[in-house]
Amino acid sequence: MKLCMIGTGYVGLVSGTCFADLGNQVYCVDKDSNKINKLNSGISPIFEPGLNELIKKNYTAKRLIFTTNLKLAINSSDIIFICVGTPTKKASINVDLSYVYKCTKEVLKYTKKKKILVAKSTVPIGTGDEIEKILKRKKNLFTVISNPEFLREGEAIRDFRYPDRIVIGSNEKKALGVMKKLYTPLINKGAKFFTTTRRGSELIKYASNSFLATKITFINELANLCERSGVNVEDIALGMGSDSRIGGRFLRAGPAYGGSCFPKDTKGLVSAAQKFKVNLSVVKSVIKSNQSRINLLTQRIHKIMGKNLKNKKISFLGVTFKPNTDDMRDSTSLKMITYLSKKGAIINYYDPSGRKKEFAKVKNCLFKNNVRDNCVNADLIILLTEWDEFKSIDFKKIVKNKHFKVYDLRNLYNAKEMKKKNIKYYSIGRPNIN
Ligand code: NAD
Repeated sequence: MKLCMIGTGYVGLVSGTCFADLGNQVYCVDKDSNKINKLNSGISPIFEPGLNELIKKNYTAKRLIFTTNLKLAINSSDIIFICVGTPTKKASINVDLSYVYKCTKEVLKYTKKKKILVAKSTVPIGTGDEIEKILKRKKNLFTVISNPEFLREGEAIRDFRYPDRIVIGSNEKKALGVMKKLYTPLINKGAKFFTTTRRGSELIKYASNSFLATKITFINELANLCERSGVNVEDIALGMGSDSRIGGRFLRAGPAYGGSCFPKDTKGLVSAAQKFKVNLSVVKSVIKSNQSRINLLTQRIHKIMGKNLKNKKISFLGVTFKPNTDDMRDSTSLKMITYLSKKGAIINYYDPSGRKKEFAKVKNCLFKNNVRDNCVNADLIILLTEWDEFKSIDFKKIVKNKHFKVYDLRNLYNAKEMKKKNIKYYSIGRPNIN
């Protein structure tokens, strides 16, 4: 089939590349010419395991085309996927749909033959109806469908190839048939193909992300209780998660949830519900609890290091919101590092996905090229992202300062082992053994 992905970000680039790998002809369009130039010279603008190789393979086979020319891409495709960003509007909880509506207007302008227009971006209930309104001048040319994307950064290729479910929202039989045909290679490998109304499909995505965010927040709050009551939160997670009605995933206590989806989608769901005069009090509490978690963890740094952080050397291991991605959107590190810098701390950070522009203007905050250089002079090491290469660091060997401390926000290390090595070690929701 011939496809056009509008927006070549985490979702558009990964799903476009994977669709090409299934034998489709895919035009990946972006308004950002830097991104397209990079891609055309063989460099992926994002860090995602396995993506570079897959891009190269399909680009060489001429199944994958990168362009800023939307007109050409639309005229060469039968199915158009909207994959542009849907961030939270500034100073509100509403979803900014301007990118979606802008590209819909462009699609309207260039379309001459019948197309299926698919909203893959995460959009609130009723957005498909609004898209149809924009297209009404040529309404016979379009079938507007919802097909939310569930891939996770860091595991995106695997998630695309082996999704738990493929959700399509539409009442149009013919278009549903086309979408089923497109996804047949994945359905044949066991993916559940699920159809519902367009509004239903739009809501499934927000409901799923908000539920996962709720699970994380629940265990994070229990971790606070565990810390005060001398209980190990990992035992609680195991004991709860062994119940098949609950399940063990997303029950790992840690920093506030971040990334490009959970923070904005929980807010987006609450704001969409408000439009229908429905109060989603549970999700509201989750948002509030998650926001206060960053302060709570930052205050814990004071408990470990004392009130005065001036000239204290604090080294971060990992700053992305999770491992195997370069995505910094809403990572706990953004607020934490800014706060510590304001308190006069001297900050180093190392992240396997490289230097971050977000910290370029933060005072006394330096990127280091490896774990050793990052930690050698540290007073406090904060493990923020559980990248594989951090799993077996010999801190005693690399840190010069004899009295350094480790604050492990991911419970990556064994507390007893740390004690044996005589390292002052603090983690999340586990009894303090120092
Ligand atoms: P992104 O910011 O990485 O990419 C969006 C891209 O769209 C950018 O490259 C931007 O330049 C481009 N763009 C914007 N307007 C355009 C236009 N008019 N024409 C051409 N290109 C345009 O965003 P993302 O992380 O890929 O997310 C896209 C959508 O998918 C969002 O709604 C998000 O919620 C959803 N989603 C994201 C993930 C994820 O893990 N990132 C997972 C599932 C769903």
